[in-house]
Amino acid sequence: MMCVPPPEPCIGDFGMLDPEQQMLGTWAPYPEYSLRTIIPHSCQVSEAAARSALMAYVKNHCCWGVGAARNMSVTSIRQNCAYHYILQTFTEKREARWAWAPHVGGDADGPDQGAAPSPWDLPASPSKPFHSEVKVIEVPHTASVKPCHRCRGTGTMACPSCHGKGFTRCLACQGEGWGLGSESRERCIVCGSSSHGHGRQDCNRCGAKGRVACPVCDSYGQLKCFIQLTVSWKVNVGEYITGGDEVPHDLLRQADGQIGIEETGIRVAPLPSDIVSDETLAMASAQLISEHFQVSSNALLLAQRHQVRVVPITTLHYRWKNYDGTYFVYGLDKKVHAPDYPQTCCCGCTIL
Ligand SMILES: [Zn+2]
Ligand SMILES: [Zn+2]
Ligand SMILES: [Zn+2]
Repeated sequence: MMCVPPPEPCIGDFGMLDPEQQMLGTWAPYPEYSLRTIIPHSCQVSEAAARSALMAYVKNHCCWGVGAARNMSVTSIRQNCAYHYILQTFTEKREARWAWAPHVGGDADGPDQGAAPSPWDLPASPSKPFHSEVKVIEVPHTASVKPCHRCRGTGTMACPSCHGKGFTRCLACQGEGWGLGSESRERCIVCGSSSHGHGRQDCNRCGAKGRVACPVCDSYGQLKCFIQLTVSWKVNVGEYITGGDEVPHDLLRQADGQIGIEETGIRVAPLPSDIVSDETLAMASAQLISEHFQVSSNALLLAQRHQVRVVPITTLHYRWKNYDGTYFVYGLDKKVHAPDYPQTCCCGCTIL
C-alpha cells in the first residue's frame, strides 16, 4: 500500500469544526482563570468524610479489619491536586493501492470516462470529529477489466481435493471395490454406487465434477482492477500526570476530575506557563504537541483538542495503636488509596 502524503499546506477540512472555531483559526483564546483557583470548596474532604470513605473502602475488602479505620487518630490532613493533561490530535491518512474484485458485468469506470482525481481531491469525511475509523473508496476512472489471473478467465479451477479427477480412492475398500473380510465378495457399500466406478468414491467438494468455482473471480471469469483508496482517521492521544503524590497514575486516570482547561481548534498551542501553577504541565504540553506534529508528518492534521483534568487529593496521616500510616482520598468521587493499611490479613490478624 502506498501512503499518499497530504498536499501542502497541511490544513484540514474545516467544515467539520463549528463555525466559531473556524473563525478563531489556529489560536483560541485561553480562559482567564488559573488552574489553582478552580478547585471548588466541595472538593475539600473533611476528616469525617475521609473516614467514612475509608470505612466503605475497607468493608469492600472481605478480609480487611475495620478496627483501624474506626479507631485511628488522624495526625495531619492535607489538600492537594493532581493535574491530568490530555492531548488529542485527530489526523487523516490516505493510502492508495491496486485492488481487484469480480467483474459482474456492465461497463467499467475506466480512464475513457475522465481523468482520475488525485487521492486528496476525493471527497471523504469522518462520521464525527475525534473518532477513529476507516473508509475504503474506489477511485473513479481507474477501472479496467481483465481475465482472472487464477482461473485464466474460465471461472472454474481444478478441485484441490481430487486434483480435478472428480473422485478419490475409496478408503473403505482400499480401492478394491469389494467389501473387506467378505467371503462372498460383495461390492463395497461405500463406493458401490459411485459414478466413477467401483473402488472410487465421488469427491464431495466438487460434486464429482472435478472443477470448483474460482474463489478470486467468484466464477465470473473476469476481474475489475482499480485503484482503491483507504482513508484512515485516527485519534492520537498523549497524556501527562503531575502532582499526584503517591497515588498511582492508573488510579488518577480513572478518578473523576474537574475540567480545568479545555480547548479545541485546528491547532492548539502549548499551555502558557503563566496560567498553570505546575510548570512541568506547560513543558509536557509543549513536548506532546511537538511529538504529535511528528506523528502526523504523513497525515493531514484535522483538529486538536487538549484539556487539563484536576483531580483533588486529600492525604491523611494517622496513628493507630503504635502504627503510623497514610491514606489518600482522591477524585470527585472520593475514591480511596490505602497502600499501608494495617489490617489487611485474613482472620482479622494485624501486622502489629
Ligand atoms: Zn469402496
Ligand atoms: Zn473434487
Ligand atoms: Zn477466476
